[in-house]
Amino acid sequence: DSKSFDREVKSVCSYCGVGCQLSFKVKDEKIAWVDGIDGPSNESRLCVKGRFGFDYIAHPHRLTKPLIRRDDAPAKGLNVDPANPFTHFREASWEEALDFAAKGMSRLRDDTGKRVAGFGSAKCSNEEAYLFQKLIRQGFGHNNVDHCTRLCHASSVAALLENVGGGGVTATFNEIENADVAIVIGANPTENHPVAATYFKQFAKRGGKLIIMDPRGQGLKRHSSHMLQFRPGTDVAMLNAIMHVIVEEELYDKQYIAGFTENWEAMKEHLTGFPPSKMSELCGIDEATLRDVARTFAGARAGMIFWGMGVSQHIHGTDNSRCLISLALMTGQIGRSGTGLHPLRGQNNVQGASDAGLIPMFLPDYQSVADDGVRSAFNEIWGGDIIDREKGLTVVEIMDAIHADEIRGMYILGENPAMSDPDADHARDALAKLEHLVVQDIFLTETANYADVILPSSAWPEKTGTVTNTNRQVQMGRPAVAPPGEAKEDWWITVELARRLGLDWSYTHPSQVFAEMKLSMKSFDNITWERLEKEAVTYPSLSPEDPGQPILFADGYPRPDGRARFTPANVTAPAEVPDEQYPMILTTGRQLEHWHTGSMTRRAAVLDWAEPEANASMHPKTLRRLGIEPGSIMKVETRRGAINIMARADRAVSEDMIFVPFAYVEASANILTNPKLDPVGKIPEFKFAACRVSAT
Ligand code: SF4
Repeated sequence: DSKSFDREVKSVCSYCGVGCQLSFKVKDEKIAWVDGIDGPSNESRLCVKGRFGFDYIAHPHRLTKPLIRRDDAPAKGLNVDPANPFTHFREASWEEALDFAAKGMSRLRDDTGKRVAGFGSAKCSNEEAYLFQKLIRQGFGHNNVDHCTRLCHASSVAALLENVGGGGVTATFNEIENADVAIVIGANPTENHPVAATYFKQFAKRGGKLIIMDPRGQGLKRHSSHMLQFRPGTDVAMLNAIMHVIVEEELYDKQYIAGFTENWEAMKEHLTGFPPSKMSELCGIDEATLRDVARTFAGARAGMIFWGMGVSQHIHGTDNSRCLISLALMTGQIGRSGTGLHPLRGQNNVQGASDAGLIPMFLPDYQSVADDGVRSAFNEIWGGDIIDREKGLTVVEIMDAIHADEIRGMYILGENPAMSDPDADHARDALAKLEHLVVQDIFLTETANYADVILPSSAWPEKTGTVTNTNRQVQMGRPAVAPPGEAKEDWWITVELARRLGLDWSYTHPSQVFAEMKLSMKSFDNITWERLEKEAVTYPSLSPEDPGQPILFADGYPRPDGRARFTPANVTAPAEVPDEQYPMILTTGRQLEHWHTGSMTRRAAVLDWAEPEANASMHPKTLRRLGIEPGSIMKVETRRGAINIMARADRAVSEDMIFVPFAYVEASANILTNPKLDPVGKIPEFKFAACRVSAT
């Protein structure tokens, strides 16, 4: 009851891109519990992470003082004493730590001009993401700034920008209420977007046809009308076969294609090479099912397509998304209520951080750094001839550039590449090689172990700022409690560093940053800080009263002649296929209870209690064949390295595959993963590598 808490603070969940609104109940300056409230994406619902995953912010491991690496610390590495994790660092004042951080970076900058790169965070606010990319671009004169979108939906965004002219979703996921058919491919919403999954289940309960396409079984399977458990890595073959049927049986929307698209004839011609009779063997789905799915989706009154990282994290991730876009375009399932394309975003603010320009090739609102007009507009706002015309390096490329001695320093805010980058040993060696590493975070993460200076920052429930969820809904985050000890809000730390790098920054509140963002970001037209204090707004908003547009592209596309494009895609084999030495397929991902690299959820008591041990899933038949008991420790090896991890039996995983979550440092999945990149989206192939598994 209202007497059992001192105050309530309305904010947004700190975990996934669904962006559920919630209310923190604060008692004695601590969050006592959390309730869901009526936000546009959750209507008071919360999942287990949103409801029970908040206590990480009060964990004793929180960083509360700035830290500087001791002069006598041994070589940088992960092997700190678990009983005394801070042993290689000494406490410092903010003044000393900020001076030390800035001096190291400016020394590298003034020495060479290009030797400091930045990873910002999709867990920070829009304003913090904007400031971070501005600091790298303005402070160092290059575009070597990126964040974890490169590891999740970079390929989806590349395909959307190329073919429909916008990187966001074309329809909110709640629009499924108005659909009669929906495809969910390469996504596991019951684990990774649980509140969105409740809408999908309700849709199925009302009679909507839910078509699931995934190499792994999943929770939505029992709500589905079709479950296509296709062979991993064969997305293009399967989708092209479905589109082949749509062409062959003339199920496409002639009027829509003629009015709103280009390159149709080439697409039609291309698809003749993908008959389901041939593709069926490749993708492992029988011809009748491929035909039935084609007829069901093309015949829908209103159809939507949702996808996740099962689509995007391949060397052909951009091609996978191109196919999904083509499928929507040829059936006219876009631009109307209950239709559209929706890549389900991962982090709570990965949409907003990308919109804010935390990517090496685009300034805010996906405006190209290579465009002279764009650069001069930003130069005018930022004051000076500042912005480099060359695209910067992406996440994995930055690690390679460190090994090649092209980058010598980094500023990493809220990212954990020692755990999240593919071929983690390669990434860790790169971090160890840096001359100067500044890490800003809330915990001594695996990455912070390699730092020269650590700046203690604020968790999401401790800060003020806006975030943008997977639905393009911009919402206000509010501080429920103060950061612990001397920890500070991230925007404040970035501003202090910028000043010490010689930049003339005078922001004293995130609202000032938001006002500056509006000068260059059309997506924020009609959205003001004051408005966001009162309500969530979906961009684009057409007037100060318009709550925003859930559906995009009703009247055409922001492309030449207003037309979307069909881009044909060919079948590409995964970068590393199983062979005699490594006969199985490794795939990686998340679990319901643990968030990404586990730094928050493994310190959240209820979540850690529910899923306390590193575990990997295999089919029970495969475990039997390999002589591995469920619950025992097995060894998983690839050409990059090996881990020991507990075996879990799971019939959802196909017999030639192992699924390893990437949240566990003691069995780090990314020791194993393949760093080969999609050539367009520059996303690594986390979803496919050759591996072998044995009993220990
Ligand atoms: Fe938080 Fe996502 Fe769960 Fe909503 S669905 S409560 S945003 S983790």
